[in-house]
Amino acid sequence: MDLFDLGHDELRVGGLPLSLLAERVGQTPFYAYDRALIAARIAAVRQVLPHGVLLHYAVKANPMAALVGYMCPLVDGMDVASAGELKLALDAGTDPQCIGFAGPGKRDAELRQAVAAGVLLHVESERELSALRSIAQALVRPARVALRINPDFELRGAGMHMGGGAKPFGIDAEQVPAMLRAMAQEGLVFEGFHIYPGSQNLRGNVIAESLQRSVDLVLRLAQHAPAPLRYVNLGGGWGIPYTVGDKRLDLAPVAEALAQAQAALTHDWPAARLALELGRYLVGEAGIYVARVLDRKVSRGQVFLVTDGGMHQHLAASGNFGQVIRRNYPVVIGNRLQAVEREPATVVGPLCTPLDVLAERMDLAAARPGDLVVVLQSGAYGASASPQAFLGHPPCVEVLV
Ligand SMILES: *Cc1c(COP(=O)(O)O)cnc(C)c1O
Repeated sequence: MDLFDLGHDELRVGGLPLSLLAERVGQTPFYAYDRALIAARIAAVRQVLPHGVLLHYAVKANPMAALVGYMCPLVDGMDVASAGELKLALDAGTDPQCIGFAGPGKRDAELRQAVAAGVLLHVESERELSALRSIAQALVRPARVALRINPDFELRGAGMHMGGGAKPFGIDAEQVPAMLRAMAQEGLVFEGFHIYPGSQNLRGNVIAESLQRSVDLVLRLAQHAPAPLRYVNLGGGWGIPYTVGDKRLDLAPVAEALAQAQAALTHDWPAARLALELGRYLVGEAGIYVARVLDRKVSRGQVFLVTDGGMHQHLAASGNFGQVIRRNYPVVIGNRLQAVEREPATVVGPLCTPLDVLAERMDLAAARPGDLVVVLQSGAYGASASPQAFLGHPPCVEVLV
């Protein structure tokens, strides 16, 4: 399932054996992200994108500054969801023209920063629009606007739903025409629409259907627009496999739907660009989390590997970041990949809570203190999505290899 080379006794990251990488980092636990795997994934996505479709990186998935800087020249833009992420994208050298700023609850100060920077605002409410109007006037600078639509349909099969039904995200589709008509006012520059249906979708045909329905909706709403459509961001939400049962996303139907969406869009609006914003799919499989075994305990017949890393640094692997049922991430003993001796073990962290579990009753190489536990598929929603202050352990170290 993973993209790392498991063919030696020691996992290799960017050509380095894991134990040597741990020495280089100088401590455990840590996250490591593999540059070459990220570049290869971006190239693979480009292969299926119709010519002209823009590929954006959703910074939220992994906001490590070095990683964002590395990705900047490889993608066509960045999507951010806070002033902090906006700073990261700008520091990385992203052209402000190619930055989109989404998120419910943008503070006035953030809106001001975004207008000053000249990035595209994905507007999520009427209040936000009127705040932008005042800010544009105060700064004597146009506010570039795309309306984020909460669609009138909901998609099955996404891990996390973020569109359709009653949602805090975006503007209900039925309210959009009135807002568009009210937009032909000084200071606001209408550029297009944004629809984001949800995250961690592993079904290509469902993503394809979402693209098709989204572009239909966009074309209907664009008739009320105060200016020609220039930009349509249709989200992403492409998933990656985490557990043995997960099938890899089939991109064939997605590619076909993208080509059709692009054709439909440019037929009506020749200057309009279609964009995708991908987070997890670009970086998720290129990262690992590494923790050292501190203790091996046997409690009433069950083996527990107690490590120096845990849920405070990798909440998702503990099953507490959006999962309904806890399922194990792929976990290996990174310095004993070829071991013949194996045993069922539960990997826990150092926190005083039963939630601090990285792997539950998994078949692993028999491990002892000093060994390195590796959680694969950890390049997205890891360090930054974890409650690092919980229980006062040191903050996370991340390296790009
Ligand atoms: C979280 C988010 C993304 C990234 O989602 P992935 O599943 O990581 O690709 C993209 N766009 C918006 C608006 C988001 O909220």
